[in-house]
Amino acid sequence: MTTTRRTNVNTTTRDGGRWSRRGLLGAVAGAGLAGSTFPTIAGAGREEPRRANTQPERRRPGRAGVTLRWWGNNSWEIRIRVPDQDDGGDDESATRTILIDPWVTRFETGTYAPGGANPDTPITVDKELIDRYVDSGELRADHILVTHGHYDHLTDVPYLAERTGATVIGTETHVNLMRALGAPTDQLSVATGGEYLSFDGYTIRVLRSLHSATGPRARVAYPGTRPAAPPETPAVIKDLVEGGTLAYLVTADSGFSVIDFGGSNYIESELADVQPDVALVPPGGASVHEYVPRLLSALGKPRYVVPTHWDDFDYPLDEPAKDWGGLDTLRQAVAEASPRTRFLVLDHLQSHVW
Ligand SMILES: [Zn+2]
Repeated sequence: MTTTRRTNVNTTTRDGGRWSRRGLLGAVAGAGLAGSTFPTIAGAGREEPRRANTQPERRRPGRAGVTLRWWGNNSWEIRIRVPDQDDGGDDESATRTILIDPWVTRFETGTYAPGGANPDTPITVDKELIDRYVDSGELRADHILVTHGHYDHLTDVPYLAERTGATVIGTETHVNLMRALGAPTDQLSVATGGEYLSFDGYTIRVLRSLHSATGPRARVAYPGTRPAAPPETPAVIKDLVEGGTLAYLVTADSGFSVIDFGGSNYIESELADVQPDVALVPPGGASVHEYVPRLLSALGKPRYVVPTHWDDFDYPLDEPAKDWGGLDTLRQAVAEASPRTRFLVLDHLQSHVW
């Protein structure tokens, strides 16, 4: 098992430049990186040196054939080696890629600032940035799994679906919202939870789940559904309603499995026979009775808990993740509920190979 950091150097070998959430802007010379240009984030006012790591990343899967990579927030890339077609890992056709809630645009909303998100924040999709990731081969997908309809989960999916050709799974509301945002209709697949689907190299189990309940009244942010297809085009973040929440269990043919919860809540009975190797668990859940102990017990105390949705996404993806304040509480709750579970924190764009 190895953990690797995606490196600046690695990125420059792919496309000759680093990019930010705002796109490729400006250029500075990087020490020790002769011939490379490193765009800066214009106007971001964060000029600290980039993380230096000269070790080139090997994204070849290990024995279980699964590589997990964090793209910030609840954006996950699960890369699976397909054993029958394995030629050593260099041929891209020997891997399959599943993305969960991919969101790289990360426009500012103030979600974790005092006062919270401005509900009238316009929805933005940075197509130039997405193009760069897709064109460089950095971002690709056979499946895109949507946990719920909120802006920090669904916004980039329609364009990413168009660019990657991936099949997208979500509830009827998620699918309708994505149609309204221009997603290719024939790639969208409606799920309700309960589906157990088999594909080349992996299975996807869709599980009914619940969204985080926040504030003193334990309410869901921007609740609601959009049963009419397609609804009015969402323009601001409050237009992207939750639309039901799904959890996903992805199991490689090697038997290795990963479960993701896009919100800090779940339906315990749905997890009765689910025993993943890795659980992607968001911090929070203060209003949910025994949030972490009940969850880990239902999941058979998984070998790994990898925190998800713990970074303040007003800050860029190409800088170290900025904890919004929930990480330590989650770490402690996991340690108390399941001392043998490894709490594995991945940073932005970092991978872990099993
Ligand atoms: Zn949400």
